[in-house]
Amino acid sequence: MNIHEYQAKAVLKEFGVPVSKGIPILKASDAEAAAKELGGPVWVVKSQIHAGGRGKGKFKEASAGDKGGVRLAKSVDEVKTFVQQMLGATLVTVQTGPVGKQVNRLYLEEGADIDKEFYLSALVDRETSRIAFVVSTEGGMDIEKVAHDTPEKIVTFSVDPATGIMPHHGRKVAQALKLKGDQAKQAESLVSKLYAAFVAKDMSMLEINPLILSKQGELRCLDAKVSFDSNAIYRHPDVLALRDETEEDAKEIEASKYDLAYIALDGTIGCMVNGAGLAMATLDIIKLYGESPANFLDVGGGASEEKVTAAFKIITADPNVKGILVNIFGGIMKCDVIAAGVVAAVKAVGLKVPLVVRLEGTNVEEGKKIIRESGLNVLPADDLDDAAQKIVKAVKGK
Ligand code: GDP
Ligand code: MG
Repeated sequence: MNIHEYQAKAVLKEFGVPVSKGIPILKASDAEAAAKELGGPVWVVKSQIHAGGRGKGKFKEASAGDKGGVRLAKSVDEVKTFVQQMLGATLVTVQTGPVGKQVNRLYLEEGADIDKEFYLSALVDRETSRIAFVVSTEGGMDIEKVAHDTPEKIVTFSVDPATGIMPHHGRKVAQALKLKGDQAKQAESLVSKLYAAFVAKDMSMLEINPLILSKQGELRCLDAKVSFDSNAIYRHPDVLALRDETEEDAKEIEASKYDLAYIALDGTIGCMVNGAGLAMATLDIIKLYGESPANFLDVGGGASEEKVTAAFKIITADPNVKGILVNIFGGIMKCDVIAAGVVAAVKAVGLKVPLVVRLEGTNVEEGKKIIRESGLNVLPADDLDDAAQKIVKAVKGK
């Protein structure tokens, strides 16, 4: 689960991490009071969307001006103007895709005097099963480009969970950022606070870009991007309360209500499968035969007819779906339950695209009978190979 920058900074602040003073703005009429409270003389007006690259982003509306999604303001009036221009406008960044994202929240911060911009992130490294840090003097810009062109400028290390964060980790960061004396001490303290926050809140990713050294010689997190491990979110109701559903894929939210494991993808074949392994195999075989899946969907082992109907509705509601492949192995799940769910869903929402159904396992004959007798235009398939080829052919033929 992702949260906004201003929320991430509030979480980090609880752990003593240095961030700028700021006030979230949800309506333009709050801008003046917020600007006065922060005092100036320089403010930063920041678009809050779940995507990076805001500074270099562009608004779709000409009325929003051409100064990007993160703007420096030098007067209360300028703050007010920027807030009016940006709130409600659609920001396009390298991470939003061409459709962009509507900016419904802004964050107004006191402006910092930047001397140097660094990069620092932490993430769960699956290879070492540890939390790994990535640090670089080349902050503020495209870290992927730095990693590609000048990999020697990136320092990484991981933390042994048995010992936790140690002073030598902090020294490593200070060294990587070429900080000495008091500034090195600040870096050491910062690293241990970030690690504490990461572990306590079950984060999966934490990215500070830029981490700055101000002209006053202080380290401060000027940007913060945090993702949390969804499997651990039940332990953190305070974090769950920060969820902003308007930033998420509507189909994924709907699926989560029915406890369906659903991930939207950008292909054309909608998939309904039971079991994550079979679902992965189904995506692979669709690719093998030359098309791309529109989603990953695991309806689970013991799905009810209601759940299957909900899943089918979510798939058909996706305008990118040009064909549907239902691939079920009935183990605990019974083929007749799936078949009844598919038939009920098709009757409820209609079927405008080709549908291939491959059933195998428990109650397979009853399942096939239900489909046969439904009068629906379903292409039956005998095995996974056959099913994938049939749906790819049907989609390509359109
Ligand atoms: P991103 O583009 O989505 O990563 O948004 P950031 O929060 O990183 O902001 C983009 C850029 O705006 C930063 O890299 C800074 O150069 C600049 N910026 C952000 N806050 C301040 C500030 O307080 N003072 C100054 N001078 N620049 C800032
Ligand atoms: Mg940034």
